[in-house]
Amino acid sequence: MTSVADGQRDAAVANFSPVEYMAFLPWALERKLKVRVLRETAALDLFSHVTEPGEGNLVVGVARYESDLETIDRNLGYPLCCVEAHWTRNVDPMAEWAGVHATADPFCNPLLRYVGLRLCPHIPCSPHCQESSKLGRALAGYLDQGVVARVVELLSDVTWDSYRGTAIVTARPFRIILGTVPLDERVVVRMKGAAHGAR
Ligand SMILES: [Zn+2]
Repeated sequence: MTSVADGQRDAAVANFSPVEYMAFLPWALERKLKVRVLRETAALDLFSHVTEPGEGNLVVGVARYESDLETIDRNLGYPLCCVEAHWTRNVDPMAEWAGVHATADPFCNPLLRYVGLRLCPHIPCSPHCQESSKLGRALAGYLDQGVVARVVELLSDVTWDSYRGTAIVTARPFRIILGTVPLDERVVVRMKGAAHGAR
C-alpha cells in the first residue's frame, strides 16, 4: 500500500479482516488514497490468494486515482510479459520450468512462496524476467533490510522436485512438501544465484 502512496505503482489489492480494514482506512485517507472494497470472502488462514465464498475477509483495492480502481486488474504494476504468461498457463507454473537449472536472481525466485518467503509479488514469466527482478527490488525497499538479506540468502539455492502430484521444495535449512499438478514424469527445477546489482 505504501508503494501506491509513493507512486511506485498505480494500484494494489490487499486482504483485510474487518477490524484491520477499519484500522487501515485513516492511514489511506491521510495519504489521499482512493479505497474500495472489491468483494468479501471467507477468512484466509494461508498465504494463498485463492479465496472462497463467505465472510471475514475483505479484498480491498487502493489507488491514487478513482479511475485506476475501475480497471484495477491492469494497474497493479505487474510486468506485461508476466501478466500474459499468467493467462496462458494451464499446469503448475513451476512444471513449465521443467529441467531449468537457472542461475536466478533471488528477487525473481518464486520457489518458496508456499511459506510466504518471496521478494517478487507474482510468479514471473521466466526465472530470468528482468522486469520482475526490478519490481521485487523496488518493493523490497519497503521491508526490513535484515529480513530481506535473510530471505535473499534462503532464495539463493532452492530446488523444486515434483513427481505424481507431490512436490518437495528444498532450501538449505528446511524442506516443504506440498500437493501439485500430478505429472507422469519427475520434474526438477533448481534456482541458484546470489543477488546482484543495486537495490
Ligand atoms: Zn515477465
